[in-house]
Formats: sequence, structure tokens, C-alpha cells
Amino acid sequence: AARRAGGDRAVLFDAAMARGVEDDRALEHDLREALRRDEVGVVYQRQVDLATDRIVGVEALVRWRHPTRGPVSPAVFIPIAERTGVIEALGAWVLRTACRDAAAWPDPIRVSVNLSAIQLQRDDLVATVLDALAASGLPPDRLDLELTESLLMENDGPARDRLERLRAAGVHLALDDFGTGYSSLSYLRDFAIDKIKIDQSFVRGLPGERPAAAIIEAVVSLAGNLGLRVNAEGCETAEQVDALRRLGCHEVQGWFHGRPEPSSAIVASLQAQLATANPATVRGTAAV
Ligand code: C2E
Ligand code: MG
Ligand code: MG
Ligand code: MG
Repeated sequence: AARRAGGDRAVLFDAAMARGVEDDRALEHDLREALRRDEVGVVYQRQVDLATDRIVGVEALVRWRHPTRGPVSPAVFIPIAERTGVIEALGAWVLRTACRDAAAWPDPIRVSVNLSAIQLQRDDLVATVLDALAASGLPPDRLDLELTESLLMENDGPARDRLERLRAAGVHLALDDFGTGYSSLSYLRDFAIDKIKIDQSFVRGLPGERPAAAIIEAVVSLAGNLGLRVNAEGCETAEQVDALRRLGCHEVQGWFHGRPEPSSAIVASLQAQLATANPATVRGTAAV
């Protein structure tokens, strides 16, 4: 009976695995088509400076609206794109789109693009990024590339060389999901990072949880000593914004200030922001 049960389990397991693989293959095929059929888009989430309350940058986030399944989360399709190699075409397309959109915005804010480990392993990464910049006319120092700790962990000499070449060209590097990987601190020593993005799991603990606040405080202090900017991700409430301001974070990104939105909505917000280019003057005039 035991053997039989084991056999049944194995069969069930195989069936589930096969379904998973088939699902992946279907999605992989659809994803290749999606790029050609305009089902893929890029949305932008604002990054707000806590000292000035102004939008200083956005993160580009890829979106896929599947014709029958509806929106598919990047948490689902990015891993498939990575396993199947589609990430190269997809990643290059996101870079070109984000640079082109940002170059047309009325205010020279920054745009941040996520990089996959697979892209970092490719020798043509530098050319892909520089081509996207050149084609759009976006100055290199308005582009941030977001890297994760696990991405840096898997990569050695050639990858580091690519990042150094990009940085020499003026591109900035941001360490994404900071605090969730391994031995975070060695990356700050070994790579020329410009910005730390504190993972949303820490922000979630604010304002009540002392450990979350203490960790953020320590990261801010470390970043200050290294001359890095600190962004806190997943900021959903006014209380979290206040706590992050008190803790010395430079900028926040999260639903409190806005969900990811199309380029046209960013343009409208930037135009409104430019209309109050000098808030001090506006207040002064009103007082007269
Ligand atoms: P990420 O780079 O850490 O992006 C932040 C994620 O947090 C985004 O999820 C964003 O929509 C979500 N988020 C922002 N503010 C809040 C908030 O206040 N509360 C909550 N609960 N969530 C918030 P999204 O867009 O689903 O992307 C998930 C992940 O997929 C990204 O995490 C990134 O790792 C990956 N990804 C997205 N676009 C790209 C891309 O173009 N290329 C690559 N390689 N990866 C991408
Ligand atoms: Mg990111
Ligand atoms: Mg993140
Ligand atoms: Mg993440």
C-alpha cells in the first residue's frame, strides 16, 4: 500500500509538473508574440523627494495584457522570460521605451529601469543601454539601472566590467530590494552603487515596528557615509511617509504618492509641478 501511495504521489507530482511546463511553454510562446503585437507596455511609478515634495524620478515597470488571460504580473512572466531567453528582447524593448518616454517629458527627472541577471550576463548589455540612450537623446545621467543583490552575487568579473563601463558613461546604479538578499554590505564595497532602494518589507513595519525603523535608520546612516541616496519602496500611508522623513530617507516610492501609471499621466503631473516651479514665490505672492 505504501509503495502504491508513493507511486500515486509520483504520478500526481509529474502531472502537476507537466502542467506547469506546458503553461510556461504557452506563456513563452504568447510572450514572444506579445512583443510584436503591442500587448506589452511600460508604466511609471513616481519617486518623490522628501525634502521638497517634488517628483524627482520614476521607476519603469513592464506590463503585459494577455489577450485571453488579461493582465499577467511581471512576478509571473519575468521569470519565464528569463528561463526562455525572451528577457533579452523584452529588456531591450523596456530600455528603449523608457528612455524614449523620459526624453520627451517636460521636466528632466530621472528614469529607473530594472535589469535582469540574464541581461547582465550578456556581453551586448553595454551596447544595448547606450543604443537606447543615443536613439532617445536621453542624457545618460538621467538613467538609473536597478540591480538586485542576488543578481550581483551570481556575477563576477565580466559583469562588473559591464557595470563599470555603463557608470563611466554616466548611468547610475541602484541596489533594489535592499535588505532581502545575502551579505548586502559587500556589494556596496565592490560595486559603484549610487542609490539604495530599501525593500518594501521594512517599510511595511512602519511606523510601529522598532526593528524595521532601526534597520532603516542604520541603512540611512551607512548610505550617508558612503554618499548614496536612499529610496524607500512600498510607501502606502502618510504615517509611513512621516516616519521615513524622520528617519532621514531621501525619497519614497509607493501607492501613497501614486500607483504605476502611463507616461501621459506622468507628463500631466510634471506640467502641474512645473507650474509651481518655485513654491516659495507662490506663497510669497499669495501673502501680499
Ligand atoms: P521591483 O523592481 O521591486 O518593483 C516594485 C514593485 O512594487 C512593483 O511591482 C510595484 O508596482 C510594487 N509597488 C510599488 N509601490 C507599492 C506599494 O505601495 N505597495 C505595494 N504592495 N506594492 C507596491 P510590479 O510592477 O508588479 O513588479 C514586480 C517586480 O517585477 C519588480 O519589483 C521587478 O523585480 C520586476 N519587474 C518589473 N518590471 C520589470 C522590467 O522591466 N524588467 C525586469 N527585469 N524586471 C521587472
Ligand atoms: Mg525595481
Ligand atoms: Mg524593489
Ligand atoms: Mg521586488
